[in-house]
Amino acid sequence: MGKYLIKSEKAKVSDSIIVKGEKALVAQQDIEKNTIIFLYEDSATDTRTRTSIQVAMDKHVEPGEFGAFANHSCSPNTQIIANYDEKTNIAEVLMLTIEKVKKGEELTFDYATTETTVTPDLLNKTCLCKSANCRKKITGFNDLSLADKMTLITKDITASYLQITDK
Ligand SMILES: [Zn+2]
Repeated sequence: MGKYLIKSEKAKVSDSIIVKGEKALVAQQDIEKNTIIFLYEDSATDTRTRTSIQVAMDKHVEPGEFGAFANHSCSPNTQIIANYDEKTNIAEVLMLTIEKVKKGEELTFDYATTETTVTPDLLNKTCLCKSANCRKKITGFNDLSLADKMTLITKDITASYLQITDK
């Protein structure tokens, strides 16, 4: 059973601005850069779900009632940093702001910086993030164009297990 070691009061599950009719993690006040939004610890599973977060190759955690509501953005204001221990199969998943976030904005991360792919119901859905560099569809890293992979690899917000291969 997973648990939150840290769950910031600065964010709450509320109505999404990006995806109408859905819930999201929304800033309740202005939040500084480098603020921990949550730190979640759980055993990893081999199963990807709509709301799981990948922590290593073929390893995922399900962040439950809080982190599961983090939506995707191609210009995210947070990053996910995962630490997975192969020996214990325990993962810690940290969500950290990478820029100032204004009250009322959603806390987002780029799904392609953690996920090799996404569940079939989500894959290639139209991205609604409206950022200037929006990739237009939601995918995992492996589904990106080579150019987009190279862009992400050069950012230090991308998980180390995501690599460009010739497969
Ligand atoms: Zn987008």
